[in-house]
Amino acid sequence: MANVHELNYLKEKIQDLKDQGVYRKLPILEGANEAEVILNGKKVINLSSNNYLGFANHPRLKKAAVDAVEKYGVGAGAVRTIVGNMDLHEELEEVLAEFKREEAVMTFQSGFNCNAGTIQAITEKGDLIISDELNHASIIDGARLSKANKTIYKHNDMDSLEKVLKDNRDNYRNILIITDGVFSMDGDIANLPEIVNLAEKYEAMTYVDDAHGSGVLGENGRGTVDHFGLHGRVDFSIGTLSKAIGVIGGYVAGSKTMQEWLSHRGRPLLFSTSLPPAAVGAIIEAVKMLMESSEYTDKLWANAKYFKEKLGKLGFNTGNSQTPITPVIIGDEAKTMEFSRKLFENGVFVSGIVFPTVPKGTGRVRCMVTAGHTQEQLDRAVKAFEKVGKEMNILK
Ligand code: PMP
Repeated sequence: MANVHELNYLKEKIQDLKDQGVYRKLPILEGANEAEVILNGKKVINLSSNNYLGFANHPRLKKAAVDAVEKYGVGAGAVRTIVGNMDLHEELEEVLAEFKREEAVMTFQSGFNCNAGTIQAITEKGDLIISDELNHASIIDGARLSKANKTIYKHNDMDSLEKVLKDNRDNYRNILIITDGVFSMDGDIANLPEIVNLAEKYEAMTYVDDAHGSGVLGENGRGTVDHFGLHGRVDFSIGTLSKAIGVIGGYVAGSKTMQEWLSHRGRPLLFSTSLPPAAVGAIIEAVKMLMESSEYTDKLWANAKYFKEKLGKLGFNTGNSQTPITPVIIGDEAKTMEFSRKLFENGVFVSGIVFPTVPKGTGRVRCMVTAGHTQEQLDRAVKAFEKVGKEMNILK
């Protein structure tokens, strides 16, 4: 019998990945995540980060991180419920609640475990979770951890959502509708006003994952809820601290009751060490910078508009994005990956996204323009798109 410790069953699966042409190595970045980076040894314009505002390597955040390390050390030393809850963590939640214009905030160590920990804590047997079919993986996993029943509605389709609500309302105690605020693969915005109306009509609760809306939409980047003026009408408003904010972490903004309950039953908070002081110090500084001025969000939108218009004029299909996320839809999977590879050779890094992450035949490269890009860098990127697009007969 083969030695089980050789993990042959995994080796076979890895070979399957190779046979399917989807095996890959992790790309290696030398230095900070900025608008132009050295990736796998090559200098390229970076059009694939979530560093929307250029905060990941911002001097003010770095100084705040260093100051926090000097005072608090490098680790929190325990979970929050034991002795890992520093005054700095409390300050972060106060600042975030002020920013999000909500009563209270509960933070987690990442956006992923915020969803994984929160959804299971706020639902139970006898409840129903209704999720948009394109919601993020961390929402799907969070729902899987819940004992509630689960169902989906068609992407951003309000008739489909209403039908699910109507068919199920009388069979469950609580119903929780979950949607991304901004959908990460297409850049479209959830129809939140209508979702909230339907939730009120059918007495359901609402849960919005605003990972790609926070720091991007609304006044000074306050998010999708603020963008639509829906404060007080969304029960759970989730954000990440790893994208526009540039650091790490996730949070739920909402009521004091939500915060009190999650501090007792949010499992990542009970069983995993709290955010490191450097991260917390940097995040507080980032949120203060956002509240002080719209300079960064304005620059992000100006850059995104500029880039999107240039690609559109060349004849690329940039989909129905309403946000800085700019998909360039190629269609065929192999062609999409080839397009991404050729762009890399021409000095632009933009990752190819294909089935199963997006539906078959809708392969795309997903461009993430940031506030940190200069016009010159965007022009160079557009030139590379034009050259490769013509070479591959994507453009006429
Ligand atoms: N929700 C959505 C919609 C996301 O796009 C992501 C990041 N890919 C997450 C949650 C997870 O956030 P984090 O990277 O902070 O764990």
